[in-house]
This record gives sequence, structure tokens and C-alpha cells, in this order.
Amino acid sequence: STHHQIVIVGGGSAGITVAAQLLNANSNLDVAIIEPSEKHYYQPAWTLVGGGAFAAEDTVKPEKECIPEKATWIKAYCQEFQPDQNQVVTQDGSVVSYDYLVACPGLQIHWDWVEGLPETLGKNGVCSNYAFEQAPKTWEMIRNFKGGTAIFTYPGTAIKCPGAPQKIMYLADEAFRKNGLRDRSKVMYCTATGGIFGVPAYAKPLMEIVKRKDIEMRVKYNLKTIKTDPKEAIFEVTTDEGVESVSIPFDLLHVSPPMSAPDFVKNSPLAGTEGAAKGWIDVNKFTLQHNRYPNVFGLGDASSLPTSKTAAAVRSEAPVLVQNLLALMESKSLNNQYDGYACCPLVTGYGKVIFAEFDYDKNPSPTFPLEPTEERYSMWLLKRYGLPFLYWNRMLKGKNFERSLLKK
Ligand code: FAD
Repeated sequence: STHHQIVIVGGGSAGITVAAQLLNANSNLDVAIIEPSEKHYYQPAWTLVGGGAFAAEDTVKPEKECIPEKATWIKAYCQEFQPDQNQVVTQDGSVVSYDYLVACPGLQIHWDWVEGLPETLGKNGVCSNYAFEQAPKTWEMIRNFKGGTAIFTYPGTAIKCPGAPQKIMYLADEAFRKNGLRDRSKVMYCTATGGIFGVPAYAKPLMEIVKRKDIEMRVKYNLKTIKTDPKEAIFEVTTDEGVESVSIPFDLLHVSPPMSAPDFVKNSPLAGTEGAAKGWIDVNKFTLQHNRYPNVFGLGDASSLPTSKTAAAVRSEAPVLVQNLLALMESKSLNNQYDGYACCPLVTGYGKVIFAEFDYDKNPSPTFPLEPTEERYSMWLLKRYGLPFLYWNRMLKGKNFERSLLKK
């Protein structure tokens, strides 16, 4: 067995950012990252890949280049958290013990929770931006669409980037118009939720866009089954009268699949046991310290933090976590608090983005001194060029985005 002062489980957006910030603060810290993947992905650009506006290969880098030089990379799957023993066990049975743990292994996608989806994904007009290999196929299908019904779904679970299911729809709508197909097409947004977006200030302009683009919206439509001969999407629909099954024939179907915490998180003592935290790493929503194990912290998609699961949220969570962890190591009090900041740049067309930033109170929290609910070309440029650059060159290097300086 091996021991490290700080063990980070997951070397995605959260794990790398935290490791880099810790080592920037004190290069003598002994930090290990348990991460099985050879590759690190910039997932936020997959929406643009699906819309033909970003190259898939520009969303991936070798994990080796992302791990901070002074950190130890343990290339393994973490299989079990044993917080009572201050250790984790990897898939090959190795034990890694720690003084402090940062848990951030992301979330798990359940393609098989939609019957028929695993067999047909990437074929038969069925696509999804929620995987690196799949996003380019979304663009193939949008580009080759010949008219008919195009359906875009949102599942009945918590997901990462809650805006992504509709962003790709707005790009598709515009692509269909450019190809002169829009009058021969029906575009539908079928969401298992009760509305277009969870933050009212942004829901309003989005509903106007849905109307302007002549999109048919269905709420409480939960995709359950896909049939391909003929092509049919079957939804579980909840109404005041009860639950019924509704089938809609489709020509193109973009699926945002159901998601959950990874099994090894759900089944661990770190998981929350009730309410919205159930199954997720149960941390204090302000300090990011675990609610039962004080030497454990959590952030990112795997955490119980009641905000939008986004890389933007991670960007604001990481410095809070790092300051609090360093304080704990010096037996000081945990004074840093996360305000729930998240951002979901709502791509509403080519060259158009509503830069939706908000906090725990669901209030807009704009970085720039501009009306945040408007579609802007400047915010498209930020999404397309600025944020990917900042991600690789500043966020993953543990450098600040200086949001507080920009904020009005
Ligand atoms: P991840 O970055 O997913 O990293 C998790 C890491 O844990 C991975 O490297 C994985 O290999 C590793 N891991 C998994 N299992 C184990 C294990 N057993 N042991 C050890 N390691 C493990 N965010 C935005 O801010 N803006 C956007 O516009 C946006 N759009 C998106 C669009 C799409 C289509 C998708 C898929 C995501 C989008 N996101 C967006 C969300 C963003 O990518 C995530 O919220 C962010 O990556 C979360 O960081 P994380 O570190 O928690 O998880």
C-alpha cells in the first residue's frame, strides 16, 4: 500500500484544477491523483462539435500533459472509498491511504436506461453530444438531414450542463434553415422536466427563442424507448390524469441520456443518504467539506452541491475548496464559502450566446457589465475561443480567472 498526504480521486476538470492550485500554493505538498484515463476532455466544446463549429480533436489532450508536474499520477480506477480507514482501494486491489481526500470522479452516463439506445446510438438518425466519439456524428446527421421530425430530449435525472440538450437544437434549427429545409421540418424539444430552464431570468428569453424558432415544446416527456423500424421515440408522459406512453415518429433524435453518481460513489459511506444529496458525495454546500468526514472534500459533478453541474461551477468551487483544505491542514477555521456560481453559455444559434451565469439563489451573477439575458456575438466568441483557451492554459494550471476583477 502507498500513502500520500492528499489523494485526489478523479483527474477531470475538478481534480486537475484542485491539484494545480494546491501545488501553486505550496509546492512541497504531497499530492496524488487517481485517474484511469489516458485522455483529458474539454467537454463543454462537444456542443459546438455536434454543431459542426469545433473540431473534436481540439477537445482532447493527453492526461499526462494535464497532471501537474509535482503531482503523482496513480493510473487506476478507484473502486472503493474507505473513509473510516482514511484510504481508498483501486480496481487492482491496491490500497492508497491519505491524510486528506478530495473526491471528484464526475458522473456516470446510463445509455442503457433508455431501451434500444445502446444498439442504435450513432446510427439510424440517433445521436448524442454526451460522448467524445458521438458528438461528430451529431453534426453528420444534422448536415445530412433531409427534412422531417427532429427531436431533442432532456432526461428525468440530474445531468451535467443542463443547457446542452437545447443548445444543439438551436444550432440544428439554424442549419436546417440554411439548407432550406425548415419548412419541411418539425423541431421538437421533449423534456422530462417541467420547463425550459431552471433559472427564471434565463427561462424567459429562452421561451421567446423557442417561439421565434417555431419549436414545439413538450414538458414532462421522459424518453424511455427507441425503436428503429420504423423510427419511433417512446416517452413516458406525466399529466394531471396520470402517466401514459406516447410514441413520436422521428427522422433525427438527439438524446441527452440519464445520468447518476458513479456506482462506487453511490455505494460508499461518502454518499448522501436522503433528499437531493442522495447518492452524491455529501458535502457542505458552502465549505465543500464532507458532512461526516472532516478530512474529506468533494466538488464537481460527483458532489451534492445544489448547483448546475458545469466546468464553470468547478472553476468557482476549486479555490474555495483549496483555501479551506489548506486552512484545515493548519487547524484554522474554514472561512471560504462557495456561492453556488455556475455558468451555462446558452448557444442559441451560430454566433449567438446568452451567457447564463447564476448563483444558489438563482439570481443572474454576470461577470461582465452587460445585460446577461441577451443573445450576444461577443459571448459566442468567448464560448468558441476564449473559454477553451482559458480552460487549458489557466484553469488547469491552477491560475485564477480574475472573475472578481471583471465583475461589475
Ligand atoms: P469530469 O471532468 O467529467 O472528470 C471526472 C474524471 O474522473 C474523469 O477524468 C474520469 O476518467 C475520472 N474517473 C471516473 N471514474 C473514476 C474512478 N473510478 N476512479 C478515478 N477516476 C475516475 N460545462 C460548462 O461549464 N459549460 C458548458 O457549456 C458545458 N457543456 C457541456 C456539454 C456537454 C455535451 C457535456 C458532456 C458537458 C458539458 N459541461 C459544460 C460540463 C462539464 O464538462 C462538467 O461539469 C465538468 O467536466 C465536471 O468536472 P468533474 O471534474 O467533476 O468531472
